[in-house]
Amino acid sequence: MPKKPNQPEERCSFCGRPASQAGMLAAGLSGYICADCAHQAEQIFHDQQQKQHSAFSIDNEPIPTPNDIKTFLDQYVIGQESAKKVLSVAVYNHYKRLRYNATHKEVGDVEIEKSNIVMVGETGTGKTLLARTIARMLKVPFCIADATTLTEAGYVGDDVENVLVRLLQAADYDVAACERGIVFIDEIDKIARKSENPSITRDVSGEGVQQALLKLLEGADVNVPPEGGRKHPEQKLIKINTRNILFICGGAFDGIERAIAARLNSNVIGFKGDERRQELDRENMLQYVQPMDLKKFGLIPELVGRFPVLTFLQPLDRDALRRILTEPRNALTKQYIELFKMDDIDLHFEPEVLDLVVDRAVEYHLGARGLRSIMESIMTDLMFDLPQASKGSTYTITRSMAEEKIKL
Ligand code: ADP
Repeated sequence: MPKKPNQPEERCSFCGRPASQAGMLAAGLSGYICADCAHQAEQIFHDQQQKQHSAFSIDNEPIPTPNDIKTFLDQYVIGQESAKKVLSVAVYNHYKRLRYNATHKEVGDVEIEKSNIVMVGETGTGKTLLARTIARMLKVPFCIADATTLTEAGYVGDDVENVLVRLLQAADYDVAACERGIVFIDEIDKIARKSENPSITRDVSGEGVQQALLKLLEGADVNVPPEGGRKHPEQKLIKINTRNILFICGGAFDGIERAIAARLNSNVIGFKGDERRQELDRENMLQYVQPMDLKKFGLIPELVGRFPVLTFLQPLDRDALRRILTEPRNALTKQYIELFKMDDIDLHFEPEVLDLVVDRAVEYHLGARGLRSIMESIMTDLMFDLPQASKGSTYTITRSMAEEKIKL
């Protein structure tokens, strides 16, 4: 519009620049906006919306109940009722705690503390599977770290802070989301100190790591290098507060049964002792695990104290192994059936084949981990010939065929 003489020049109401500098202005009822400010406003709205719809936003969604969480776990993990229950409650409380602490920040308000968890169970009984399955349904960032790779800062190996780098990456570098996440640390038993007494020499992969881990568990501001690796003086560090991060640890704690048995035996000497002793389930001593057993195993008392929840996984018996082959949502047999379906072949297993696979897994002491390798040795030749098989046919694996393949 041509400007009338003596009329003041129109200005952007946001940045204040006159039209001669800012270029074209859009007019509103009581002001103007330039293209740059309009663009910036659009960006701000976009970012806000993204935040509201972030994958990690739990504020506006109903919290899944422990029962919901357990039902979800049941689809993938066979048995392990006790561990599933404990985990379901822990995750539920984690959500509740985040929501509560976000709105109760006044001095004098009750602060709900987190309950970090340790899961004790033989290798191959489903600790990592539980953690991975929980991660599928979580609305908070989640990562898995391996304690065996950690060393005290300054030594060869990963600094403990790198655990948080993984969580930050899982949170797409959203620091606020990362500070509400869950970390699963596997093989926590491998950082046990070598003897129950504090060591005289430096124990950089055991006790040193436990001390470093303690800081994370206690809730501290930790500076992490966003790309991981060592902290370089020139690298920009990101500050992460771990107060609300939930830690779940898993470990086999090989040999801990002896400490448990020794404790139980010494406890029951005397009045009614023999009755108690008979009630003990000797096949599964892990169910009696107590924090002091972890201490005896070589975790420092301060660290044990930071894990108020302790749960165990049952050794898998024949029945559980058999169910693992067929029942979970992505059970091994279901996976092969799907693979064959892609070549238009209808695959079946004789029930005796599954018995045979379980027999072998038990015989070789391989647990659930062994099921896959045994199945593979049965299926490899078949899968090799699969593309040549006539489409639309049905194929049944029989016990004699399976025995033949395993024998080789
Ligand atoms: P852990 O971490 O206890 O050493 P994993 O969770 O890695 O053991 O288990 C190894 C594999 O064995 C899993 O990927 C899964 O296929 C199978 N498995 C183990 N325990 C179970 C279970 N309770 N239910 C279903 N599958 C299981």
